[in-house]
Amino acid sequence: MKPPPFAYHAPATLAEALDVLAEHGADAKVLAGGQSLIPLLNMRLAEPAHIVDINRVAALGDVRADARGVRVGALARHAAVERSAGVAAVQPLLPAALRHVAHPAIRNRGTVVGSLVHADPAAELPAVLAVLDGTVEAVSAAGRRTIRAADFFAGPLESTLRPGELAGSAFFPALPPRTGVAFTETSRRHGDYALAGVAAVVSLDEDLRVSAARAGYLGVAATPLVLDLTRRARQAQTGRPPGDADWSGVAGFVRERLDPESDIHAGADYRRHLAGVLTERALRAATADALGRAHTSAINEEAGW
Ligand SMILES: Cc1cc2nc3c(=O)[nH]c(=O)nc-3n(C[C@H](O)[C@H](O)[C@H](O)COP(=O)(O)OP(=O)(O)OC[C@H]3O[C@@H](n4cnc5c(N)ncnc54)[C@H](O)[C@@H]3O)c2cc1C
Repeated sequence: MKPPPFAYHAPATLAEALDVLAEHGADAKVLAGGQSLIPLLNMRLAEPAHIVDINRVAALGDVRADARGVRVGALARHAAVERSAGVAAVQPLLPAALRHVAHPAIRNRGTVVGSLVHADPAAELPAVLAVLDGTVEAVSAAGRRTIRAADFFAGPLESTLRPGELAGSAFFPALPPRTGVAFTETSRRHGDYALAGVAAVVSLDEDLRVSAARAGYLGVAATPLVLDLTRRARQAQTGRPPGDADWSGVAGFVRERLDPESDIHAGADYRRHLAGVLTERALRAATADALGRAHTSAINEEAGW
């Protein structure tokens, strides 16, 4: 099918883009990588009167990683973020999740920020932003505002960006010390949207006991869902050497908390079961990652690095 008619705008600067968005408000849609918007137009599931193509606004392509975290500009492609050594060092959950997003051709074009704004409940990056308590920076002709992940995802394919606003960048905070991460999901074929997935973050104290454990879920609710699993994770470790926790109780707790929907891809019971299994795997892997990082930093400290 062909898209419905629309006026095409190709601003060369951020100021020009914001002016067009201010003028046309809810009648305008931003075009970034086009990997979700173009199919929606072609299927006539979206019919904006104005398309604002931001691909010429070079300033939006930045990816910056420093001790505070990773800031990803609106035009940074999935592939650029996935392959950045700086990103991997500061926030390894990003490349771990990005490897599961679609296929390489789509990752070459699609953007991290576009994926957040698209807010697909089965997408990987919204769950990553949510579990890390990251933020999106909204810019408009009227100014800027920072939106926390917990306030950004309003429903399936719906964010809290307002008409006239552009998502200028997203910020993913760095990992605290002795913290590990893991991402796991199940999809019918690699690259398909997941039936369910989990992004886990586990922090250890100086005695290598769990001090915090969080999991962000995709595919099991209308928006990314975050569970604080700290108490259950501590219980799972009780009386066991670090890294040898029994995560089965945590999986049971997670299944009780979830209320997924059935669709043509999977039933609700299957999704609930899957989320428990994936939680066990993700927590085990994130704890192993945290132990590895704790040992590496202890060795570095001893060596005076
Ligand atoms: C075959 C296929 C498989 C896929 N599989 C997956 C998958 O497994 N997991 C996954 O997460 N994604 C998947 N995707 C989607 C892909 O990751 C998209 O790239 C991503 O969802 C949107 O990024 P984009 O830059 O292409 O956005 P676009 O398609 O350009 O835009 C998507 C939406 O976000 C809005 N938007 C984009 N950028 C901004 C901005 N800066 N400010 C305001 N609004 C903005 C647009 O107006 C539009 O509503 C798949 C896509 C295809 C075609």
